[in-house]
Amino acid sequence: MDTKTTPKPSPAPVKVAEHMEAHDGNPWRQAMEQLDRAGRAMKLEPFALERLRHCKRILTVSVPVKMDDGRVEVFEGYRIQHNMDRGPAKGGIRYHPQVSLDEVKALSFWMTMKCAVVNLPYGGAKGGIICDPKKMSKGELERLTRRYTAEISIIIGPDKDIPAPDVNTNEQVMAWVMDTYSMTLGYSCPGVVTGKPLEIGGSLGRREATGRGVFYVTRELAARRGFDLRKAPIIVQGFGNVGSNAANIFAEHGCKVVGVSDVGGGLYDPKGLDLHDILHYRDTHDSIADYDKAEHMPIDKFLELPCDILVPAAMENAITKANAPRIQAKYIIEGANGPTSNDADHILHDKGVVVVPDILANAGGVTVSYFEWVQDMQSYFWSEKEINARLQDIIVGAFTEVYDVHLKEKVDMRTAAFMVGLRRLGKAATIRGMYP
Ligand code: GLU
Repeated sequence: MDTKTTPKPSPAPVKVAEHMEAHDGNPWRQAMEQLDRAGRAMKLEPFALERLRHCKRILTVSVPVKMDDGRVEVFEGYRIQHNMDRGPAKGGIRYHPQVSLDEVKALSFWMTMKCAVVNLPYGGAKGGIICDPKKMSKGELERLTRRYTAEISIIIGPDKDIPAPDVNTNEQVMAWVMDTYSMTLGYSCPGVVTGKPLEIGGSLGRREATGRGVFYVTRELAARRGFDLRKAPIIVQGFGNVGSNAANIFAEHGCKVVGVSDVGGGLYDPKGLDLHDILHYRDTHDSIADYDKAEHMPIDKFLELPCDILVPAAMENAITKANAPRIQAKYIIEGANGPTSNDADHILHDKGVVVVPDILANAGGVTVSYFEWVQDMQSYFWSEKEINARLQDIIVGAFTEVYDVHLKEKVDMRTAAFMVGLRRLGKAATIRGMYP
C-alpha cells in the first residue's frame, strides 16, 4: 500500500475510498455529527461551533526511507493540529496501513475534546503515517520515525504541539522522536514528546495510565448505577497497551475478565481468565490467540459474547449497525478512540446500553502525558503513588461532571461529555476573541 519511488498513478485517493468503504462511516463525518448534536443541545455560540468544524493546521509530509534491501520507499505522513485555544496541541502518532487524512483529522478533533473534558491545558492534535510497521525492521522503523520527526519539527515543540504514542507506536519510537528533535536544537528537549522511556524523562505510570483510567471510570459507573463491579463479567477487545493494561488492572481489583482478544482472535472463559498467565504468554508469543488454556472465539463474534461490560480497545468502528443489535453488554467503556459508529450509538441507546465515551473513558493516557510534560518542564519527578492519586482525582472529577450533565440534561453520556468539553472550548474561544 505504500507509495514506492517508482511512479504510480496517484494511489492515495484509492486508499481513502477503500478505507471509508470498509467502515460504517467516515470518522471525520462521524466526529462532526457528534459535535453538531452536542452543540445544538447546549446552544453553543455559532462562532465557536464553526471554528471547531475546522482543523487549525494540517501538515502532509512525504517520508523517504532507505529500506534494508537498499530501495527507497516514500511513505505519506500527517500531523494535524485541530485546536490550540486552551494551550499547546497534544496527541499521539499512529503507524497503520489504514491511516487516512480524515481519520487523523477526526482523531485530532477528539483530542481537543478529550483534553477539554478532563480540563488539561491543551488543545488537540494527531499524527499518523500510512505504513505497515509489522512488516518493517527496527532499523526501518527508526529511519521512518526520524525522518517523519524532522519533517514535522517545523510545527511541534514543547510549547506548540507535543506528540505521544498511539496505535503501533511505543516508548522506543518516542525516544527517537525526542532524540531527533533534540539533535536539531543542540540540547536535550524531553518536553517535546510524552510516553518516553523513564531514563530520558518519561513518567512513572504512563504505560498503564489509559488502562487505569478505563478502570476508574468503570468503577465510578458501577457506584452511580449501583452494581457490583466484581460480579460483572468483562470483555476487553484489543490487547495492545490500552486493552492489556485495562484487563490486567480489572483482574488486579478482583474483577472477572471473561474475554480478551487481539487481531489473531479471541479467548473466552465464563469463569474468568487468568490474566497474569495470558500476559506472560503474550510476552513470549506473537498472538494471544494461540493460548490454549481458554476457549477460542472467532474475531467477528467476539463482541457479541455474553458479558455486562464491554471494553472496545482496538480501532475505530468496531461496533457498527451490523453488530450493535447483537451486543449483549449493558455497559460499553470506550478504551479506543471512535470504536462505536454513530449508527451503532443510536441502536445501543435505544437498547438501553450505557456508553462511556472515548473522550472520557480513555483520557487517562493523555492525563499522565500531561503529568510527564509538567515533570519534564520542571525537571522534577513525582512518585508513582502521587501520579496515580492525581490521575484518579482528575478522572473521577471528570466522570462526575459528565454523569451529572447526563442526568440533568437527559442526554447520553457522549453528548454530556461533549457538552462539558464544549463549554470550556466555547469560553476559551470567546474570551480570546478573533485575530485580527
Ligand atoms: N494516543 C493517546 C490518546 O489517544 C494519548 C495521547 C497523548 O498522550 O498525548 O489519547
